[in-house]
Amino acid sequence: MTKFIAIHPAVDNGIPSTQAGFTGGDLTCNCTTNKVKVTLNSQTAHNHVCGCSKCWKPNGALFSQVAVVGRDHLTVVENEDKLEVVDASATIQRHACKACGVHMYGRIEDANHPFFGLDFVHTELSDKNGWSAPEFAAFVSSIIETGTNPADMSGIRARLHELGLEPYDCLSPALMDAIATHIAQSKK
Ligand SMILES: [Zn+2]
Ligand SMILES: [Zn+2]
Repeated sequence: MTKFIAIHPAVDNGIPSTQAGFTGGDLTCNCTTNKVKVTLNSQTAHNHVCGCSKCWKPNGALFSQVAVVGRDHLTVVENEDKLEVVDASATIQRHACKACGVHMYGRIEDANHPFFGLDFVHTELSDKNGWSAPEFAAFVSSIIETGTNPADMSGIRARLHELGLEPYDCLSPALMDAIATHIAQSKK
C-alpha cells in the first residue's frame, strides 16, 4: 500500500473544473476577525501548483496553488492596513497578512518584467467554485529545498501525473516560451 501524498487541499480530492463565464470573487485571509479581503473582478488564469519556497502554502501542503489575474482587476477592500510585503527585495512583492501570515496577492513592480501587469493569487482563499483550474506543477524539484526527501520525488511526480498536473522543474513550456519571447523582443 502506497502512502497518500498530500499535494495541496485544492487538488487532493480531485480538481474542480473551471466554470465558463466565471467573473471572480473575494479572497479572505485566515484571521477569525478583521479579515483582509481582496476582490478580484475577473476570472484567473495559468493556475498551477508550485513547489518553490516563496509561494504561500497552507499548513501541511507540499505545494502552493497559485494563479494570475490582471492587476487592474484586484482591489484590497477590507483591512489593507494588516498587509505587509514579505520580502521587499523579491521580484514578486508578496503582500501578506501580518496576523495570520496568508499571502493575499503578489505583485511585480518592475515594468520590464515579462509578467508585469499580472498579480499572483491563491484562489483557495475564496469560498466560490469556478476559478480557473490548476493545469500543471511548477518548480517541482524545489520542494527538496524545503525539506522533502529526494527519495520521495518519484512518488510525488507520479501523483502529480495521476492528477493531470504535468510536473516541471521550472514553469510550463508555454510560460517559459512567453518569458523567452519577452526577452527576445526587449533585445530588439
Ligand atoms: Zn489574516
Ligand atoms: Zn512558487
